Amino acid sequence: NWKKTELDGRSKDELYQMEATFNEMIDHLKDNFQKQEQFVSNASHELKTPIAIVKSYAQLLERRGLERPEVFHEAVGAIDSEADRMQKLVEQMLLLAKNQSEEDHTTINLVNLCRKSISTFTGAYDRAITLINEQENVMIYANEEQIRQVVYILISNALKYSDDEIRVSVGQDGHQAILEIEDFGQGIRPDDQAKVFERFYRVDKARSRETGGTGLGLSIAKTIVEAHEGTISVSSTYGEGSIFTVKLPIEE
Ligand code: ADP
Repeated sequence: NWKKTELDGRSKDELYQMEATFNEMIDHLKDNFQKQEQFVSNASHELKTPIAIVKSYAQLLERRGLERPEVFHEAVGAIDSEADRMQKLVEQMLLLAKNQSEEDHTTINLVNLCRKSISTFTGAYDRAITLINEQENVMIYANEEQIRQVVYILISNALKYSDDEIRVSVGQDGHQAILEIEDFGQGIRPDDQAKVFERFYRVDKARSRETGGTGLGLSIAKTIVEAHEGTISVSSTYGEGSIFTVKLPIEE
């Protein structure tokens, strides 16, 4: 009905306010749409490479596989590892697409979760991973499986990109739980530090491919942490090592 009556100062202000909010919403939607498009384009690019490799090895097998055993073994090995890669990519893309709802949240002790994750890793790898905790309990209200995933991603990266000891520290600062994963490896240049959380970003594509990297790990970690109203960041000195820090709200 406002059209019929004369707009007084207040309604005009409200109208401008609505327009500004509306424009902001449209910009936000556009931005999301572009990100989604970029994701689909990156994802198809990443999947095309292993598919092309599998196809060319299948053709090689067809031509030479029967008469040359070394060709047979090379081709079967490559097909197997490319299939693993595709499987990992698809699993990680599904993790990213998962709805981050609060449904499965429970009260968990971050210290225990880290202790368990570390023992899984030290059982499988011959590497020193030290837990440093100032207190026995750091309680958060979270999806346990997802937080375990974050810890897993950060420790596996530290293992991949360094050769020495890894330190995991869990503490509390006021209302925040603070988790730090520190390595003394290759480090990340300042320009790359902000980009490592982007989907599919890898500092060294070739090396990361060798180590089985997809460039999705840190973006999954970021999505999960932000869905828990937390933050994730990195501080690193190139050539010396990196510290990834996760902050999550404490369960009061
Ligand atoms: P990836 O599967 O390639 O490891 P991530 O999203 O987990 O993907 O990491 C993105 C990139 O960030 C990696 O390719 C690597 O270049 C860099 N990176 C991640 N963690 C570390 C680390 N602890 N030390 C040095 N570089 C790292």
